[in-house]
Amino acid sequence: MRYRDREDELNSAAHHSGRKCVEKGCTKPAGTAWSPFWCFEHNVERMDRISANLEAELAYRQGRG
Ligand SMILES: [Zn+2]
Repeated sequence: MRYRDREDELNSAAHHSGRKCVEKGCTKPAGTAWSPFWCFEHNVERMDRISANLEAELAYRQGRG
């Protein structure tokens, strides 16, 4: 998973948006190739959450859930 790899170019400072992370209490610089709103750590959390939701949705639709 590239979004989990801190060293990946898609997580490099080149993608920083100049904002702070939108997560409450987080002051890290926001911006990855996936979104300008979250810092690396919170983007990973967010993407994990989305992946889990998508997987659950898929399981439900396929009658596995
Ligand atoms: Zn953050």
